[in-house]
Amino acid sequence: MSLTLDQLNAAGRDSFVALLDGVYEHSPWIADAAWSQRPFKTIPQLKYTLAQVVRQSGEERQKGLIRAHPELAGKAAVAGQLTAESTNEQSRAGLTHCTAQEFARLQQLNADYNARFGWPFILAVRGPRGLGLTREQIIDTFARRLDNPADFELAECLRNIHRIAEIRLHDKFGTEPVLGNLVWDWAESLAAHSEPGYAEQGQLTVTYMTPAHQACAAQLTTWMQDCGFDEVSIDAVGNVVGIYQGSDASAPRLLTGSHYDTVRNGGKYDGRLGIFVPMACVRELHRQGRRLKYGIEVIGFAEEEGQRFKATFLGSGALVGDFPPSWLDQQDADGISLREAMQAAGLSASLADIHALKRDPARYLGFVEVHIEQGPWLDEIDQPLGVVTAINGSARYAGEVIGQASHAGTTPMDRRKDAAAAVAELVLYVEQRAAWDAHSPQGPSVGTVGVLNVPSGSVNVVPGRCQFTLDLRAPDNAQRDALVADVHKQLAAICERRGLRHTLTLSMQASAAPSDPSWQARWEAAVMATGLPVFKLPSGAGHDAMKLHECMPQAMLFVRGGNAGISHNPLETITNDDAQLCVDAFMHLLEQL
Ligand SMILES: [Zn+2]
Repeated sequence: MSLTLDQLNAAGRDSFVALLDGVYEHSPWIADAAWSQRPFKTIPQLKYTLAQVVRQSGEERQKGLIRAHPELAGKAAVAGQLTAESTNEQSRAGLTHCTAQEFARLQQLNADYNARFGWPFILAVRGPRGLGLTREQIIDTFARRLDNPADFELAECLRNIHRIAEIRLHDKFGTEPVLGNLVWDWAESLAAHSEPGYAEQGQLTVTYMTPAHQACAAQLTTWMQDCGFDEVSIDAVGNVVGIYQGSDASAPRLLTGSHYDTVRNGGKYDGRLGIFVPMACVRELHRQGRRLKYGIEVIGFAEEEGQRFKATFLGSGALVGDFPPSWLDQQDADGISLREAMQAAGLSASLADIHALKRDPARYLGFVEVHIEQGPWLDEIDQPLGVVTAINGSARYAGEVIGQASHAGTTPMDRRKDAAAAVAELVLYVEQRAAWDAHSPQGPSVGTVGVLNVPSGSVNVVPGRCQFTLDLRAPDNAQRDALVADVHKQLAAICERRGLRHTLTLSMQASAAPSDPSWQARWEAAVMATGLPVFKLPSGAGHDAMKLHECMPQAMLFVRGGNAGISHNPLETITNDDAQLCVDAFMHLLEQL
């Protein structure tokens, strides 16, 4: 018999602890402390509460919890002394069938890890989909995490313990994140399409209008048809558009979606998740034979990342009438023009066709987008979902400081016109100035000098020139402009004091896109309906929603990424359970309209 939430909520303290026995390895104190917080409305709320007990318990208890776990393929495993849960997990991961070489490697890693951190390595070996990691994945992760700083690794072990608990709770409750699995599996299958040069190494690269890109569009089309969308088509710029009609054909539609292109060697969820989640919802509605009053239009945007061509947000830009004609003539690294690439893929590349994609805002309720966070916040606080308050506005500059190149041996320190030393001062100022906004009510700013270059620099020459870039972002335009103004002023002051000249040219500026208050409130209600508290955060990265913001109200939902939220990287990951929460929240949003 599976456990039910009602049973758990009705249980006295001791039986509550007994019912949750084994969820946290040899650590009944966690369930004991959570008991007083009944009743739990949902299982995600229960999981969140258990994680918060651990969070608030202090470092000594946390280390005790970690040390209550066995080593992977360790002495206890060999001697058959593991708990039933651990035995099941380690054998499912194939750790009981290691080759002699793998076994020796794991023993060495166990010893190195213990010597470095003083606790056993913890990994949820059943993995993000719950089906088990391969031994190779386990060993790779083990080796990679040995290099983590100790405080980070402590937190990473606890996160893995919560993931282990999450999977063990499924076993207890007899539950399965069915739609989360579907979304997760779609992401995995779509990632099978990758470009030559990357595919062979197991890396994911899908840039605009390459064969891999076209294969993704074809695959999305098929899946959308299978889900029960009424119309599925590929538009003039390669966006895959699926429409699920409402019962009232004249009612404005909900627009949603995200991009299916990737950066080079990127992750499987960036963009794609925002296509799959509404697809799963439409599939559910269709399966139940349900129509909402309004239609749902789901778009897989063809281009967002600006990788092959410098045409960032090409897909969503076309929907708001932003497609500069000059884009058609720009060439990729092989000299193929955007026009030629589109035509080779069977598109007309006619400006009239592209301009016809512009949407009439009166026909839409608004735009919502689900996206992986691509940052560390949600993962750090054990919070699966986050509601976006604004997409940061940004300004990028290319700059140069011009001094005097001179002999490094003969030029006295007080006579130098060192351009690189001046830029070094600026770099430190940018870091400090952006950090001042850490507690701004709108959210923090960020500032980066990503390129530093001393043209034809030499070991024995005082740098006469130094080129650099600036990337400054903030959750609203006023905060961004204040940051920009201060950085400009500081650069002028540094150059003045050092007797140098400088140039600074704006290369890109994007307005902040604050979330529409009523749509943001709908996401907040949707998160609360899952039983989780609402956590709000601005988006540091740009998204398709920021384009749609130009013509209709928008708001985004973030889901946490594992591995501290790393993105634009193959380590980008989400769990099937978090994918399920996205689907549940999206469904709730649909029901509210
Ligand atoms: Zn993205």
